[in-house]
Amino acid sequence: MSQRVKIKQILLSDSVNYEVTVKGWVRTFRNNQFIALNDGSTNNNLQVVVNEADTDPAVFRRITRGAAISVTGQIVPSLGAGQKVELKTATLEILGDCDAEVFPIQPKKQSLEFMREIAHLRFRTNTFGAVFRLRHALAFAVHKFFNDKGFVYLHTPIITASDAEGAGEMFRVSTLDPKNPPLNENGDIDYKEDFFGRATNLTVSGQLEGELGAMAFGDIYTFGPTFRAENSNTARHLAEFWMIEPEMAFYELKDNMDLAEEFIKYVIRYTLDNNREDLDFLAQRLAEEEKQKPQAERSPMGLIEKLEFVLNNEFTRITYTEAIEILKNSKPNKNKKFQFPVDEWGTDLQSEHERYLVEKHFQKPVILTDYPAAIKSFYMKQNDDGKTVRAMDILFPGIGEIVGGSQREENYDKLVRRMNELKIPVEELYWYLDTRRFGTAPHAGFGLGFERLVLFVTGMTNIRDVIPFPRTPKNAEF
Ligand code: ATP
Ligand code: MN
Repeated sequence: MSQRVKIKQILLSDSVNYEVTVKGWVRTFRNNQFIALNDGSTNNNLQVVVNEADTDPAVFRRITRGAAISVTGQIVPSLGAGQKVELKTATLEILGDCDAEVFPIQPKKQSLEFMREIAHLRFRTNTFGAVFRLRHALAFAVHKFFNDKGFVYLHTPIITASDAEGAGEMFRVSTLDPKNPPLNENGDIDYKEDFFGRATNLTVSGQLEGELGAMAFGDIYTFGPTFRAENSNTARHLAEFWMIEPEMAFYELKDNMDLAEEFIKYVIRYTLDNNREDLDFLAQRLAEEEKQKPQAERSPMGLIEKLEFVLNNEFTRITYTEAIEILKNSKPNKNKKFQFPVDEWGTDLQSEHERYLVEKHFQKPVILTDYPAAIKSFYMKQNDDGKTVRAMDILFPGIGEIVGGSQREENYDKLVRRMNELKIPVEELYWYLDTRRFGTAPHAGFGLGFERLVLFVTGMTNIRDVIPFPRTPKNAEF
């Protein structure tokens, strides 16, 4: 038997008249002669030609949509219009049958909502094939970007005992018997008896540990799962998502913004250079979707244009204070169109405000900096004005916040004072504070939600469609 070759490789090559073995799943079987075979290496199918007269009837009837087969034969020039080459079958073996009548993936348009119910099979469609190959490519590009810059990939813990980060609601990790937990004198659950001898949770961010790495390696990044038990059932929130968190010693806020912008542009360019087929497929899909919408709601740019636009334009950088001025004077604010009116400095921006800034006012990615201290985390570097901190959020059209970051407060006294103000237990975070005691230095970092990046690059609109098996409130299927 000849060597198994991936379909992508066959279709990329110009050679003909050589023998191969291919293995994959039948997408369609037409005229009792033409199999469209897909092996997941590309959305493009290989046309496999079978001759009924030469095939065992018992095998022939098992060539059904969804079945796994192995075919050996010659790659020859195709007579048909749809493809350059095709595979002329010498031997065909059924590896796994599939009853096409009950196979949930049907050869017609099926909704994304329905696909979520059959997420265990949806990889076998063109849309999800393209989305998850792109997700892979983006993950690879993330590692390549940081590796090429000499960053150390640091694995921060997934189970943590610090509940001081304040990034979101946490999932408890416990091995205590929920029916009969040990209690202390006050009648509360006694976590001293628990597996770790203390209460533990799934991490909401690797940042605090990341900072410890940055204060030794200089530049580190994390790329791992994070968990938030926030009950926000939106198209942009997951209870389990992947976050990329670089942390750099000797970086100030501007360096941090420059790195974030360079990083996002790099990974987008990587997919345009290496995954054009899948992007083109999704661009086409999006264009068809847009046609269903009323004219006024249609996006002025296609997917590829949108990606290129991001590459070719500098992100707008403005302060929170400037953003508030723009929003206060904006038409929707004056006409009371915002659900949350913008009237005073200090309030947190809602997603409607973020979207107005990026989609209507600037029409490109925006980096907002120097937020009020009161709405940001304790570890952000305090500005001299006594009111704001050196935070930066990056907002993207159609997505909203894609990055949250800041320069960190490196001054021990200022940091402790802020923690006390916010009643954050200083003793528990002694290890974090130690970096400020032993050779502290300016440093900065950010967190980028990987699925929000995948959303932007694929043009998908619901975050549940860009992670293989989404975890959201009331849903942990598969
Ligand atoms: P948002 O305001 O959108 O809830 P956040 O302010 O809670 O975001 P951060 O704590 O700064 O976000 O987290 C850093 C990044 O992680 C965000 O910019 C976003 O890209 C991503 N992110 C945050 N929460 C989620 C979530 N529940 N699901 C997916 N990605 C998320
Ligand atoms: Mn949040």
